[in-house]
Amino acid sequence: MDYLRRTWADIDLDAVVHNYQEMKKCLDPGCLSMAVVKADAYGHGDGYVSRALQKAGVDWFAVSNLNEAVSLRRQGIDKPVLILGFTPPAMADRLAELNVSQTVYSEEYAKALSAQAKKKGVTVDCHIKVDTGMTRIGFYAPNGHECEAAEEIAAACALPGLSCTGIYTHFACADEFQQDSREYTLGQYAVFIQTLEELRRLGITFSLRHCCNSAATMAYPQMHLDMVRLGIVLYGLAPSGECAGMADLRPAMSLYTTVSMVKKLEAGVPVSYGRTYTTEHDRQVVASIAAGYADGYRRNLSNRGRVIVGGEYAPVVGRVCMDQMMIDVTDIPQVQSGDVVTLVGRCGDLAVTLDDFAQWNGTINYEEACLIGRRVPRVYIEDGREAAVIDYVIEAL
Ligand SMILES: *Cc1c(COP(=O)(O)O)cnc(C)c1O
Repeated sequence: MDYLRRTWADIDLDAVVHNYQEMKKCLDPGCLSMAVVKADAYGHGDGYVSRALQKAGVDWFAVSNLNEAVSLRRQGIDKPVLILGFTPPAMADRLAELNVSQTVYSEEYAKALSAQAKKKGVTVDCHIKVDTGMTRIGFYAPNGHECEAAEEIAAACALPGLSCTGIYTHFACADEFQQDSREYTLGQYAVFIQTLEELRRLGITFSLRHCCNSAATMAYPQMHLDMVRLGIVLYGLAPSGECAGMADLRPAMSLYTTVSMVKKLEAGVPVSYGRTYTTEHDRQVVASIAAGYADGYRRNLSNRGRVIVGGEYAPVVGRVCMDQMMIDVTDIPQVQSGDVVTLVGRCGDLAVTLDDFAQWNGTINYEEACLIGRRVPRVYIEDGREAAVIDYVIEAL
C-alpha cells in the first residue's frame, strides 16, 4: 500500500468484527445491536469501520451529529442511523431526506422540530431520550416523577411531523461496580422502566427501547431490552479498568512511527524544548522519532511515555514536540534511521496500549483514541492484510 510511512495507525477491521461477534454472543437472538461510531468511530475512521460492521450484521448506527450521519450515508451505510445529540430544528428536512433518526430530548425541542418538519412537509423519525440520572440531555425523569415525565413525552409524541419509534436512556456509571454505583445504575433502569409503564398507561408504546452502553451490555444482561448501543468495546477497549477482562476484546488500533535520526551523546546534554531532560552518562544514545502531539501523542507524556523499538521498551526523554519527540535507545543495539517504532500496539511479549496512554495522561482510553490526529493515515487491515488507506490531509472524502 502506498502511504506516508512517517506516523500511521493500523486499524484492524478483523478485530472490530471479532469484538462485535463477541458482544453479539451475549445478546438474546431478538436483541438488536447499534454500533456507536460517533467522532469518526472513536478516531478509527467511520467509513471502513461502519462498512465492516454493517457487513457483519450490525442493525443500527449511532453518531453525535448530522454531519457524521451524512458521512455514513456517503460512505455506503444504508442501515438506520440515530443522531444522539443536538441537530438544529431547521435541519428537519435534511434528517428526513437522509432517513436519519433524531434524538428528541425535551418538549421544547420536540415542538421546534415538529414545527420545522410541518413547515417543510416531512416526517422525522425520532427516539425519545429520557434523563434517568445522567443529567445531560433528556426528558427529566427524577425518581418518583416518572408520571410527569411520561406526560411530557406523550405530548411530544403527539406532535405532527414526528414519528417517535424509539425511546432510550443513558447510564452515568454502568462501568463502576462498587455497591453505590451498581445501585445507581439499577435505580436509573427502574426509573426508565417506570416511565415506559406510565407511557403504556397513556397508550404509548415504542418498538425500540434501549439503555445499555458497552459496560451495561456486559454487566447487566437483564437490561438489554430491544437493542444495545455498543461503542468502546467494538474498538477492543474496555469501558473502564473494572470492566477489563469481561469479554475477549482485541484492540483495533495500533500506532507506529519512524526513527528519523540517532545521536550518540555525552553526559550533561539537554534534550528538547525547555531542557527538561539531560543525558545522564557518556555514550548515551538518543533517537529522534517522527511523531508529536499534533499526531495525538500528548505533550503530557514528555519524560513519561514509553515506546517499543528493536524489540525493547524505550522511554520518552525530554518534551514531546508538535511533530517529533526523542527516546533513549542506549541499551537497544542497532537502532537506526528508518526503523519502525511502536507507539501503541503489541510487539512479541511487549505492548503499549491506549489504556497505558490514558493512565499516563490521567484520562480514559476513549479520549486517547479520539485524539489520534487527522494527519495520521489510517491503514485498514482486513483478512490480515493491508486493504485500504485513508489520508485525511491529502484526500477528499
Ligand atoms: C457514546 C455513547 C454510547 C457508547 O458508549 P460506550 O461506553 O462507548 O459503549 C452509548 N450511548 C450514548 C447515548 C452515547 O453517547
